Amino acid sequence: METVKLSGDGRCDSPGYSAKYGLYSFIEQSSEKVVDFTVTQVSQVANSNAMEKADILREKWLSIVHHTANVHDWDGCTHFHGCAHPPLERDDEKAIKWLKIGEPSHDVLKEVVFDKKIQAAAEKLSEFCHTGSLESFHALLTKYCPKRQHFSYKGMVARAQLAALDHNANSGRNHASITNGDRQGEHRYRTVFPKNRKAWVAKPIKEKKSYCHVSEMMCDVIGRRRSGREDGNINVPDLPANIAPTPRPPVEDVVTAHLTRFRQ
Ligand SMILES: [Zn+2]
Repeated sequence: METVKLSGDGRCDSPGYSAKYGLYSFIEQSSEKVVDFTVTQVSQVANSNAMEKADILREKWLSIVHHTANVHDWDGCTHFHGCAHPPLERDDEKAIKWLKIGEPSHDVLKEVVFDKKIQAAAEKLSEFCHTGSLESFHALLTKYCPKRQHFSYKGMVARAQLAALDHNANSGRNHASITNGDRQGEHRYRTVFPKNRKAWVAKPIKEKKSYCHVSEMMCDVIGRRRSGREDGNINVPDLPANIAPTPRPPVEDVVTAHLTRFRQ
């Protein structure tokens, strides 16, 4: 059985007043394909989800102290009450050299796991494993849905779908080679100067992108139109008209309040 490794990350558009969507996407790590995404309204709910995510991550990290002592479920956590691995076989359980609670080795491990600085670093580490393909998907997304432009919910979903199709059609491209001259066959590179590395580095150039999926899609659209099969509508959830937690007051009231503040 093959394991599916999903990594997820969110992009939040809040540069000004009008942008109000968050996009959370999942990528399968070995194939680097986008498998799903959701567009959400950026509101307090989204913020609490982000906090919940950080909580789960922290609880998972802390659970190392249980697992290493052969304890695989526990009380006292809000989200994470047991190890994510399947139940251990009797023989495997016997073969593993577990730590013993209260012994120096387990105490030392606890010191490391509970260390606030290491906890902060571990949170970053969990992001490290997925930055590559998710980052490039999010960069591509900015081309399809520029952050400073406002789109309707349907527009946002359709644009993200196009970005996902583009990404999936072009992920896993090969390293491009020089096609003629003395150095024919050698890999192509470009030099870049990343802000965080403070030195020039060589970056592989990939083979040209393909847009074959677009013509296929266009044919399908025409086919559907001809056959009258126009399904595939986007379901719009019940969205508030704006990100404010209270309804829009009459404009005169807001102006009066503004002038009162101004005079004080
Ligand atoms: Zn465990």
